[in-house]
Amino acid sequence: IYILGIESSCDDTSAAVLSDTEVLSNVIANQQVHSNFGGVVPELASRAHQQNIIPVIHEAIQRAGIRKEELSAVAFTRGPGLLGSLLVGTSFAKSFAYGLNIPLVEVDHMQAHILAHFIRPKLSEEPVPQLPFLCLTVSGGHTQIVRIDDYFEMEVIGQTIDDAAGEAFDKAAKIMGLPYPGGPLVDKFGKTGNPRAFGFSKPNIPGLDYSFSGLKTSFLYFLRDRLKEDPDFIEKNKEDLCASIQDAIVGSLMEKLLKAVEQTGIRQVAVAGGVSANSALRRAFMAQQEAGVIQAFIPEFQFTTDNAAMIAIAGYFKFLKRDFAEFSVSPYSRVVSLFVCNEFFF
Ligand code: ATP
Ligand code: FE
Repeated sequence: IYILGIESSCDDTSAAVLSDTEVLSNVIANQQVHSNFGGVVPELASRAHQQNIIPVIHEAIQRAGIRKEELSAVAFTRGPGLLGSLLVGTSFAKSFAYGLNIPLVEVDHMQAHILAHFIRPKLSEEPVPQLPFLCLTVSGGHTQIVRIDDYFEMEVIGQTIDDAAGEAFDKAAKIMGLPYPGGPLVDKFGKTGNPRAFGFSKPNIPGLDYSFSGLKTSFLYFLRDRLKEDPDFIEKNKEDLCASIQDAIVGSLMEKLLKAVEQTGIRQVAVAGGVSANSALRRAFMAQQEAGVIQAFIPEFQFTTDNAAMIAIAGYFKFLKRDFAEFSVSPYSRVVSLFVCNEFFF
């Protein structure tokens, strides 16, 4: 079975071809237009998707070494994401599937981030998580602890009540004057910094939920005070600042995750979403595995941030169930109900 996956929910245009669970190609076109704006500009994003989508899909099919007539189905991101961006991918997926006379499969972006764990790079013998497992989904727009009982039976058991973890990274970076998206830069500079150099106030939220907005404010006020004494404070302490804020975010993520492990008794724990590229978070996962607390599943780097291979794998599992979309399907921008989402009602 050959599935074409199309992802266009935010600022990356991506297309991938899978042969069953094996990746044949995964092409991603990043959009540079947003870096000066400190965030993604929706109108610019959808225009860039329009420019990128045909060359990206063409390249994905070509690199896969198949003809488009051999495709079994087209899977696309239906949501959540930016509506204008989603419309480009959705419209293209519909017309492509219609033209080829093959089924159309709709995919939820957040489920796809999790299902990315089942993608097999060629000849890989790495183990995949077994059901049920927990997944810490940490991205630019979401921070969730999810319990996965089956491929499309997922329950969010904890989540952020304000900012997402990726947002916390990006906002901290922005406060330090770094360009968007700042998460990877905080990671890079933090590598040579001391994570204990500075302390920031910790959130105190009950249960398995998270909060990151207080941390951002605490970071902002801390820097404002220090900059009064020394205008070069950030430049002089960039590495230590990055390492310390990263330590605070990762510490908070791990604390609730370990609480979830304890509460559910589920020891297979995965991480997904763009922030799972973070080296400190990966180290924290490995440390818990070495301590015998969890069995950790960390996705390959290219499948952490937005990519179409994860859309295609979710599409593949739906294809096996003959769970196809109508051609009248329209995208959704926000998370719809909770996420037992082989059935969306609206
Ligand atoms: P969502 O999936 O919730 O719709 P998104 O698709 O924008 O949001 P992803 O592409 O999954 O999010 O992840 C992007 C986020 O990951 C950004 O906030 C980015 O800063 C963050 N990120 C990427 N790499 C790293 C890293 N090495 N360290 C910290 N954060 C990172
Ligand atoms: Fe994403």
